[in-house]
Amino acid sequence: MLPDALLHLIELLARLPGVGEKTAQRFALHLVSEKTGTAQALSESLKQLSERVKSCDRCGNIAEVDEQGRALCVVCRDKRRDPSTLCIVAKVQDLLAIERSGAMRGHYFVLGRLLSPLDGIGPDELPLERLFERLSEDGVREVIVATPPSVDGEATALLLARELTTRGVAVSRIASGVPHGGDLEFADQITLGRAIEGRRTLDSR
Ligand SMILES: [Zn+2]
Repeated sequence: MLPDALLHLIELLARLPGVGEKTAQRFALHLVSEKTGTAQALSESLKQLSERVKSCDRCGNIAEVDEQGRALCVVCRDKRRDPSTLCIVAKVQDLLAIERSGAMRGHYFVLGRLLSPLDGIGPDELPLERLFERLSEDGVREVIVATPPSVDGEATALLLARELTTRGVAVSRIASGVPHGGDLEFADQITLGRAIEGRRTLDSR
C-alpha cells in the first residue's frame, strides 16, 4: 500500500530505541508530507554524521574526525586533564552522565559491553588488551571502575580489579548511591558526583 522507499524508512526508524512501528510510521509520513525541509536537512545531517562522527580512537567516546582522519574526543584532546587517572565505563551514555557531574578530571575508557556469562560474554569479549595498552601508554596509576551496580556490572568490576591490581594499578569502585540495578545514565549529577568522590578501593582477593 505504501511505496517501498517509505516502507524502508519506516523499517529503519523502527530500529531506534523507544520507537515502535506506529511511531516510525508517524515520523515517516510527517517527513514526506511536510514542506519545511526537515527530510532534506535530516538526510544531510545523517550523511555528515557517518562521515565525521566516529568512536574516539583512544577511549571509545563519541568524537569528530579531524583533517588527518583521526578521531579524538574532547576529553582526550583536553591537555588539562590528568591522564594518570582512568575511569572505566560500560557505555558512552555513562561517560556523558559522569562528565555532567563534573567530578571526573581524568580520562575515560569505554568498554562497550559488560561481562555477562549468561549471554555468553566472557573476558575474551571485552577490549582488555586495548585497556592494558592504555595503562602503559598513559602511565595510569589509578583506575576508577564506574560500571553500573548490576550483576553484570559488579562481575565486570571484579574482573577488572583482578586484572589491574596485578599490573600495579590502584583500582577503586564508585560508591553506592546509584541504586542497585540502576542505570548511571539516569542518576542525577549530585548523586554521581558523590559516588565518584566516595569511591572505595576494590580488593580483588
Ligand atoms: Zn577519547
